[in-house]
Amino acid sequence: MLKISNLHASVNDKAILKGINLEVKPGEVHAIMGPNGSGKSTLASVIAGKEEYEVTEGSISFGGDILDEMDAEERAHKGIFLSFQYPIEIPGVSVTNFIKTAINETRKAKGLDNMPAKEMLKMIREKSEMLAIDRKFLSRSLNEGFSGGEKKRNEIFQMAMLEPKLAILDETDSGLDIDALRIVADGVNKFKSKDNAVIVITHYQRLLDHIVPDFVHVIHNGRIVKTGTKELAYELEEKGYDWIKEEEANA
Ligand code: ADP
Ligand code: MG
Ligand code: MG
Repeated sequence: MLKISNLHASVNDKAILKGINLEVKPGEVHAIMGPNGSGKSTLASVIAGKEEYEVTEGSISFGGDILDEMDAEERAHKGIFLSFQYPIEIPGVSVTNFIKTAINETRKAKGLDNMPAKEMLKMIREKSEMLAIDRKFLSRSLNEGFSGGEKKRNEIFQMAMLEPKLAILDETDSGLDIDALRIVADGVNKFKSKDNAVIVITHYQRLLDHIVPDFVHVIHNGRIVKTGTKELAYELEEKGYDWIKEEEANA
């Protein structure tokens, strides 16, 4: 599904990613961990095609397409979802109306007509029930006065509605409280299927108590320096990142 080969990327002429290799197959959940400033969010942004990041070497392919020349919108239409892509507050535009527009934009890009209103309503009902989101929330203005948990709920709702092939969740928020954590974990667990894949970026091992990853990768200094299973996340929780830095220095 996703294949990243020898990816180098920079921002403002500063090299951040220095040779990332990563393969993600349908049905897999990958966790990306690593010390602050190691390049985790940069990797997410580069996969999603954010403009300020320049790929200087290597390549990303997704479902057989080379992404390198595609902008963020095209990548989203191909089925890549990055959380926090739409963190803007839009007074007067409800959670529901925003997602309706996003879905119809995606359909338009594929040459399809708008989703029939009835079908849209059915989908909104099904997904909101699945995620235990109440109607009141759906009619609130997008992100206006949202708590941390409500922002997460909205992101997870967007993910469930857009049905991406690859969802990338960048949990940068150090204020991820237990409520928000549960919303993210439940949402991911309900969303994941044999046909889609999830990349969860997190500092926190405790998120991985609830979302069990198939692979855990550690990024340090713009490279994946270690890959393992969920046991690696426990080892990191216990020992921190210093031993990884030392191992790398001695390699
Ligand atoms: P992480 O998510 O692992 O904490 P980031 O990918 O956010 O790390 O950042 C990696 C490095 O790239 C950091 O040194 C950060 O300061 C730098 N960086 C990221 N984005 C930008 C940017 N837009 N402008 C300048 N430097 C950036
Ligand atoms: Mg950071
Ligand atoms: Mg980050």
